[in-house]
Amino acid sequence: MAGSAETGDGMRICDIQAGEVRIPLRKPFKTALRTVENVEDILIRVVTDDGSEGFGEAPPTAVITGDTKGSILTAVRDFIRPALIGMEIENPEAIFRKLDACVVRNTSAKAAVDMAIYDLFAKRCGMPLYQVLGGARKELETDLTISVNEIDQMVEDSLEAVKRGYRILKVKVGKEGLRDVARIAEIRKAVGPDIRLRVDANQGWDARQSVRIIHALEDRGLDIELVEQPVPARDFEGMKFVTARVDTPILADESVFSAQDAVRLIQERAADLINIKLMKTGGIYHALAICSVAEIYGVECMIGCMLESRLAVSAAAHLAAAKAVITRVDLDGPSLCLTDPHEGGPEYRENIIRMTDAPGIGITKVPCSFHSEGNQAGLFL
Ligand code: MG
Repeated sequence: MAGSAETGDGMRICDIQAGEVRIPLRKPFKTALRTVENVEDILIRVVTDDGSEGFGEAPPTAVITGDTKGSILTAVRDFIRPALIGMEIENPEAIFRKLDACVVRNTSAKAAVDMAIYDLFAKRCGMPLYQVLGGARKELETDLTISVNEIDQMVEDSLEAVKRGYRILKVKVGKEGLRDVARIAEIRKAVGPDIRLRVDANQGWDARQSVRIIHALEDRGLDIELVEQPVPARDFEGMKFVTARVDTPILADESVFSAQDAVRLIQERAADLINIKLMKTGGIYHALAICSVAEIYGVECMIGCMLESRLAVSAAAHLAAAKAVITRVDLDGPSLCLTDPHEGGPEYRENIIRMTDAPGIGITKVPCSFHSEGNQAGLFL
C-alpha cells in the first residue's frame, strides 16, 4: 500500500471489509415498532498498512434509521471504502469529515466505520478508547429492557430481571394507550419501590394521549423516572406539547439523530433529556457533538443502543465512560443476547459494565469472516 513512506511512520487505511454476525436473543424483543428474534448485524474491519485492525458493527434497524443490511453494505463498499482508503489514522479528524461527506445519511454504516477508526486510533495511542476520549469512569450501570407483552408476561420478565441483579428497568409500552398505565402499575406493584422504572413508548402515542397517560402515571404515584419518545419522531410540536404539560421528564430518542436536532429540541424545550445512540448519530464523532450541546445547555443524556452485540455496545460504553453529561446508561444489547461470540473488551456482568485497560475498544476477536469487494457469488458477503 502506498503512503507510509511519504510521512515516515503514518499508518494508512488499506482496506475496509464487511462480514455478518447472527446471535439469538434470550427472548423476542418487542416494542411498539417491531418484534425481533435475533441480532443480525454487519461487522466492519478496517485494516491499516502495518496490519493493525479496528472493528465496528452496524445493526440494520430499518424502522428507526432506515438502514438495511443491503444499504449498509452498499454504503461501505461503494462510497466509504473508496473515500477512506489511503487516509492516515493519525489524522482522525480528516477521516471523520470525509466519512461524513462521502455519502449522506447511512448513519449505521458510518457508525460502524467511525468506531473501527476510533478503535484503531486508540490502539495506536496504546490506551483504552474511553481514556483517549478523556474519561476515567471504570464502571457503568445499565438498565434492562422489558418487552411489551401481556401484563402477566411483563411482570414475570420484570421480576426475572430484578433477580438477575438489574435495579433499573426500561419498560416498553405504546401499543394500547391507557392500558399501558395498568401495565406499569402491575410492574411497580411487583418490583416494589426501590427499582427505577423508565418507560419507552417508541412513538406509540399521540400528544394528547401522552399527556393523559403520563398524568395517570403521576396521579397513581408510580414514580416513573422518565418517559421516552411518547410521540412520533417528526412530531416536534407534539414533543413540545407533552414536555410542557407533564412533570415527568421527557426523553427524546427517535426525534434526535444529529447535534442540530439536539440544539432545536433543547432550544424549543421539546424534551428534557436526550438519548444518544451511535447508530443515529453516525458514530462517536457526532455523538461527541451532541454531548457538547448538552453540556452547554445543562441537559443530561442517556446512552442507548439498538439490537447490537458487545462490539458496538462497547464502543458506546467507552463514550459513556468518558462523558459526565451521560448520566443514564441503556446498554443492554449484550444482556439480551443468548450468547457472546466476541473475545476481549469491557466485561458485562448483568447490570454492571466494567471497562478494562486494553487498548482501543478492546475486542480482540470477532466471529466472522470478512470480505473486501465480493466473494465467488459476486456478492459483497
Ligand atoms: Mg427508545
